Amino acid sequence: MAVDLLYTVDKACALCGRAFPVVRVRNRLRMIRQDADFCTVYADINPYYYDVWVCPHCGYAAQESWFAELKDSAADKLKAFLAGKDVQLDFSGERSRRQALDTYRLAIFYAGLTGQPASRLGALFLRMAWLFREAGDEMHERPALLEARKHYEQALMREPLPIGNLSELALEYLVAELYRRTGELDRALAGFSRIVGNPKAKLEKRLLEMAREAWQATRDLRDGRKSEPKPAPELLTP
Ligand SMILES: [Zn+2]
Repeated sequence: MAVDLLYTVDKACALCGRAFPVVRVRNRLRMIRQDADFCTVYADINPYYYDVWVCPHCGYAAQESWFAELKDSAADKLKAFLAGKDVQLDFSGERSRRQALDTYRLAIFYAGLTGQPASRLGALFLRMAWLFREAGDEMHERPALLEARKHYEQALMREPLPIGNLSELALEYLVAELYRRTGELDRALAGFSRIVGNPKAKLEKRLLEMAREAWQATRDLRDGRKSEPKPAPELLTP
């Protein structure tokens, strides 16, 4: 049961200072697969449901990895926004996908309000896209992927690299993969080609391999599409 894989710890809110219970996911998860955009799928549970912490007292929400990093200017903006609001948020315990999506919407809203780096917004939108993917909801997955792509492209241009565990090459790869997944195959191919042709890629063997495979698959898809529209004449007659 998913519940056995969860445990609760108390954390202090970076905004209001009060303690609240945070659900965490145990490390002993069985991986089923990893998608080409780094979405990892596990048996029994989706740990991305618990990536965003939400304080039930004041309403502040952020991804776990940077929840505690709250600059004074950001805290002032949040306090001004939340002042006088009757916050009634309860995301404690096991979360449904719908609740998890709500936590991402909250975190995205606050990240925008407080001017967080583009890479943080990219990470939030990408995880949100993965939750839609889990539900087979392509209609909502695609706009989330587009937002993730936009923010990660900005991050690539403006932020010091690496970002967390994303090296410059990994980020370039991810952006190319997001172009592929949103149907812009020529831009995806250009991105994968740059990685394959980059001498630094030899130091990141797995990534180089992924870029090579993605380049080939994307080229096949593009060329396949081009030859698709016209069926052979003999197929037209029953
Ligand atoms: Zn709080």
